[in-house]
Amino acid sequence: MQERNVEVAIIGAGTAGLSAWQAARQYHDEVVLIEDGKPGTTCARVGCMPSKLLIAAAESAHQVEDAAGFGIRVGRVDIDDRAVMARVRRERDAFVDSVLKSMQQIEPANLLAGRARFEDAHTLRVGEELLLRARTIIIATGSRPQAPRAFAPAGDRLIDSDAVFEWQTLPDSLAVFGAGIVGLELGQALSRLGVRLRLFGKSGSLGPFQDPAVRDYAEHTFNAAFYLDPAADVDTIERDGEQVAITFRERGSGKRLTERFDYLLAATGRRPNLDTLALEKAGLALNDEGVPLYNRFTMQCQRADGEASHVFIAGDASQELPLLHEANQQGRIAGHNAGRYPERRAGRRSTPLSIAFTDPQMATVGLSLEEARQRFGCEGIAEGGASFEDQGRAVVMRQNRGLMRLYAEHGSGQFLGAELFGPRVEHLAHLLAWALEQKMGVERMLEMPYYHPVLEEGLRSALRDLNRALLQGPAMGERCLEYGPGG
Ligand SMILES: Cc1cc2nc3c(=O)[nH]c(=O)nc-3n(C[C@H](O)[C@H](O)[C@H](O)COP(=O)(O)OP(=O)(O)OC[C@H]3O[C@@H](n4cnc5c(N)ncnc54)[C@H](O)[C@@H]3O)c2cc1C
Repeated sequence: MQERNVEVAIIGAGTAGLSAWQAARQYHDEVVLIEDGKPGTTCARVGCMPSKLLIAAAESAHQVEDAAGFGIRVGRVDIDDRAVMARVRRERDAFVDSVLKSMQQIEPANLLAGRARFEDAHTLRVGEELLLRARTIIIATGSRPQAPRAFAPAGDRLIDSDAVFEWQTLPDSLAVFGAGIVGLELGQALSRLGVRLRLFGKSGSLGPFQDPAVRDYAEHTFNAAFYLDPAADVDTIERDGEQVAITFRERGSGKRLTERFDYLLAATGRRPNLDTLALEKAGLALNDEGVPLYNRFTMQCQRADGEASHVFIAGDASQELPLLHEANQQGRIAGHNAGRYPERRAGRRSTPLSIAFTDPQMATVGLSLEEARQRFGCEGIAEGGASFEDQGRAVVMRQNRGLMRLYAEHGSGQFLGAELFGPRVEHLAHLLAWALEQKMGVERMLEMPYYHPVLEEGLRSALRDLNRALLQGPAMGERCLEYGPGG
């Protein structure tokens, strides 16, 4: 057994681990990164990037099909699924290569291959051949898909999101379980690429939405395109030859049906990769789910005796917000604090922002309605909103579906948060997140420039409605008179 002493040991070379390495390396030479799987990050290999590549292909097919609505006929849409999947993997591999290239700046001696687990609070066993003693340790082990036991009868026809991107061709049919962001993004994309699909949720929730008005609108909209039951009543899941037979009560008709699918895709959440770390030997305080307790501004874990530990955590492993920019930010904070340990500084945490690349897109910014109510009381907040159905630019693009709901604090007029469902709301969500970072009030946001005709004018309508609810502005008048058609 070899032994080695280092300043900082980082477990996991994903997005969080890589940004932690970059930060910690500013303080010491001996900063090692340990990776058990294939390097290249979840985001590039099986997460953000391949999913967006699949969605882009589906959007292209949908746009061609929709062209008739503009008076443009292009004949029958023929989807070459082998070519679609080949492009997904080709571009995905290029993204992975770019990550691997950026990793070349890490000295080979500081990049260790093997599974790490704790031997004691300062010692990691890496594989079976190395004992690594580190002054500080960062857990950046990410997460993996998890599926309930009830799916086991599907056998090798049970797949997770990682496996989808390895398909050479697309199946004829698919049952998607899970109405979260991953299930909705992949489900809608595969449906648009010609896969017969039913999407079953469990709790009634839909993507990132918590505002009932936006959630209900989105459910109705998706259901017009593919079968979606966010609170499905499923009896049995059984293997039937090369297929999976699912018996369920059909939404709408109420009939009990048994339907066969080529695969069952479990998009039922992810669990942090903490269970193989032997965390009990690290002397950390853990919550009921086995996740270390930590300070979200320093990313420093808490010891079992309540003192601050020399162990830090970052990314999906922390189970806070499983998003790329969060993993990046948490990794940076953990890396700086592990590097300068025992000195520590509070890192900057940015405004909550999440986006689902469905069509229409889904986005949330800042506080949810419930969080705002809890913080300021029901009387303390104002709500406003606007529909995309009559929004000028959205009508022009034939994408006039969607709803925005915005929240602000009474008295101060401070903008607090929003839920958006509509065309290209990824951009509106960024504007709102930036406004929130600047602590802008609703009146000031209305003073910003708005070009015509753009989707941002829809946001202005929602802000005006919110301003009226704040009793800080006049009721909305005839918009066309004031702003131009559709404004
Ligand atoms: C289908 C899908 C789509 C997504 N789309 C988006 C999106 O559009 N936008 C967005 O912001 N986020 C998206 N995400 C989420 C985003 O990909 C993750 O939040 C992010 O990649 C997490 O980074 P990480 O560094 O925490 O984990 P990872 O990148 O998973 O890195 C963890 C690493 O640790 C290694 N490891 C684990 N245990 C050990 C051990 N004991 N020893 C050594 N190494 C170990 C693993 O092999 C892994 O390489 C998506 C995720 C999925 C699955």
